[in-house]
Amino acid sequence: MPELPEVETVCRSLRPHLIGRTIEGIEVREPRLRIPVDATSLARLEGRRVAAIDRVAKYIVFNLTGDWRWIFHLGMSGKLICVAPDVARQKHDHIIIRLDDQNELRYHDPRRFGLSLVARRGELEHLPQIKSLGIDPFDGRLTADYLFQFTRRSERRIRDLLLDQQIIAGLGNIYANEILAITGIKPTRRARRLTRREVESIAMTIPKLLADAIRWCGTSFSDYRDADDKSGEFQRHLRVYDRTGEKCRRCSAKIKRIAIGNRSGFYCPACQK
Ligand SMILES: [Zn+2]
Repeated sequence: MPELPEVETVCRSLRPHLIGRTIEGIEVREPRLRIPVDATSLARLEGRRVAAIDRVAKYIVFNLTGDWRWIFHLGMSGKLICVAPDVARQKHDHIIIRLDDQNELRYHDPRRFGLSLVARRGELEHLPQIKSLGIDPFDGRLTADYLFQFTRRSERRIRDLLLDQQIIAGLGNIYANEILAITGIKPTRRARRLTRREVESIAMTIPKLLADAIRWCGTSFSDYRDADDKSGEFQRHLRVYDRTGEKCRRCSAKIKRIAIGNRSGFYCPACQK
C-alpha cells in the first residue's frame, strides 16, 4: 500500500506532465472503486486546466481552474500513469483522462480500493475522508507535546498508535516499523509506557525518515509506481521492515517478525526495548 513518501513521489512525478494542461475528456471504464465514481460530476471537469497538484495526507489533489478539486486516493494498488495515446490500454485502467497535449493520464487499480472524488474549493476539508485526518508529518505541528498527549493515555501498542490516521496522517506499516527501529522502541510496547524522551525522539524521527524515503522515491513494495511507471529504491535502506531473519544493520542480531493485529511488526530483539 503506498504510504506518504510514495504518494508525495507520485505528486512530484505528475506535475511536469500535468501542470498547465487542460483536461479534454474523461472516460470512466469501471466506476466500481471504493466509492462508485460519479461520471456526472467528472464531466464538469472537462475543459478545466490543472493549476496545481497538492498532497493532503495520502490524497492527491488536482487544483483545477474554476475552483474545482479532483481528489484521488491510490488505495492498495492504484497508479496514475501518464502515457502517449497509442500505448495499449491495460486491464484495470479504470479512468482515462485525455489531455490537450494528446497524452493521457490513466488511473489503473487492480484491487479497486482507490478513490476518485470531486469537490469545489472550500468543500475539500469538509469531505468525511479529509475531515477526520490528523496532522501532516511535515506541517510543523508534529511535536513531542502533540504526540505525548496521545501516547500517555493510550492502552494501544505504539506501532498501532502510529498507524492511527486521526493522530498522524500518512504513516503506514512500513514507516511505522522503521521509525521504531531508529528510535530503539519495540513495536509491541504499550504507548502509555513510553517516556517523554522516547516520544520526543519518535516525533523528531518521523519527518526525517519520511524525507529520506522521499529522496529515494519511496519503496517499491506492492504495485506502487509513479507517473512514469517507475518505482522507488528506499527498500534497500530499510532497517527492519520485511527483513525477517536478516541481520540488524547496527548489531547483526536477526530481525524478528511478530503478528500485531493483522499487520506484521518487525524489530531487532537486541536494539529495540
Ligand atoms: Zn540490532
